[in-house]
Amino acid sequence: MRSPSKRRHRQKTKPRRFLMPPEPEPQPQPVPKRRLPVPRLRHFPDKGHLTEDYSDLVDASEIPPPYPPKWIFERMERHLPPALLRAPRGEKLEYMQRILAGHVPSPEDFARMESCIQYRKRICSSYKPLHPQLYKMDPRAFFLPSFLRAIRGNTIESFFDIIEEPTPKVYTFPMLRPAFCKMLMNEVENFQNWARREKQEINDPDSLGEPARGTTISDIGMKGMLDDLMKQFISPISKVLFPEVGGGCLDSQNSFVVPYGGDEGELSFNEDDNCMGMHVDDSDITLNVCLGKQFTGGEIYFVGRRCRNHVNSGPKHEETFIYSHVVGQALLYHGRHRHYVCPSYGLRHNMIMRCKSSLFNEVTKCKIDFPDWCIECLREHTASGWNILKP
Ligand SMILES: [Zn+2]
Repeated sequence: MRSPSKRRHRQKTKPRRFLMPPEPEPQPQPVPKRRLPVPRLRHFPDKGHLTEDYSDLVDASEIPPPYPPKWIFERMERHLPPALLRAPRGEKLEYMQRILAGHVPSPEDFARMESCIQYRKRICSSYKPLHPQLYKMDPRAFFLPSFLRAIRGNTIESFFDIIEEPTPKVYTFPMLRPAFCKMLMNEVENFQNWARREKQEINDPDSLGEPARGTTISDIGMKGMLDDLMKQFISPISKVLFPEVGGGCLDSQNSFVVPYGGDEGELSFNEDDNCMGMHVDDSDITLNVCLGKQFTGGEIYFVGRRCRNHVNSGPKHEETFIYSHVVGQALLYHGRHRHYVCPSYGLRHNMIMRCKSSLFNEVTKCKIDFPDWCIECLREHTASGWNILKP
C-alpha cells in the first residue's frame, strides 16, 4: 500500500504522457541494383585464337563515332577473358565497346587530335629549321653545368644545391644556357617569319591572342626533344617536389614560346596582349623559363593553389608571392597555382612547358577535394571534423 504523502505528490505532479511511436509503415525493400562487372582484358593474348571479322562494322553503324580502327577489335579479342572467347560475336563486341568507352576520345577531341597531327606533318615537311641542333636533346649544349650536376646526382640534396623555394611549392633554379635561350628565340622568330611568308597558319598554343602570338614548339618538330626534356630532366625533380599531383608519372607535355611586350627591338608597352589576369594552367606541373630579351616588369604574381571548386576564393596574405624573371632561370610550380602575369616593358620571351600525368588525371576524376594542397578544402575538412567532435 502506498503512503498518503506519495499519493499527494503524484496528484500535484503533472502527469507525464508517454506517446507510443506509431508503428512504422512497412517500407518496400529496395531491389539491389545489379552492377555490371568492370570489363577487363587479359594481359597476355591467346595467340592461337581465331578472331571474328569486324571489317563490316562502320558500314553497319555498329560502332559509335569516332570510329576506332577496325583492327582494334581484332587485336582486343585475343585479350578477352577465356570464357568470352567462344561467345557470340555481338556479345564480344559489346564487351570490347564497354572497355573502349572509357578511353576513346570524344568526336571533338578526336577531330582536334587529327588536325594537330596533320598540322605537324605539314610543318615538318616544309619548314627548314634555322638551328637544327635544337631538335635533338643535347644536355651539355642546352643546360648549365650546375643543373646537370644536380640532375645526375639525383638526390634531394643534389637538387637543393641549386633549387630555391621562395614560397611554398614554387621552385626556382638556374637551368638553361644563355646560348640555348638565344637560339630558341631566334628559331621561333624564324618560324614565325616563315609562316607569315608562306601564309601558313600558326597553331595558337593557348588562345593567348588573335592572331596567335605564341608558337607551340612541339608542333614544329621539337616534340621528341621536349619529351626528353620532361622525362629526363623535369620528372626526376617533380617526382620529389610534386608527388601529390602526379610529379612521379608525368607522361605528356605541351610546350610553347610566348613573347610578351612590344615589337622586336623596341621598348614599348602594349597593355592589350602584354599581361594576363588571374588564371590556372592547363597542367599538373608547369615549367616556365625566361629566354630574354630586353625587358622590365613581367613579374608573375602567385596567389595560392586551389582546386576547381575553390578557384575563385580569396587569397591569403601568406600565399601571395611575386616572382621576377631571370634569363635562363626556371620556375617550376603546381598547375593549379593561381597567378597573374604583370605587364612587360620591352620584349620578353618565355618558354612554357605544361606537363601532365594521365594517372593523376584519372585519380582526379574520382576525387572531389584536395586538402593536401587546397587550403579551402583543408579548411572545410577541419570544420567538418570540429562539428563531429561537438557534443
Ligand atoms: Zn579545394
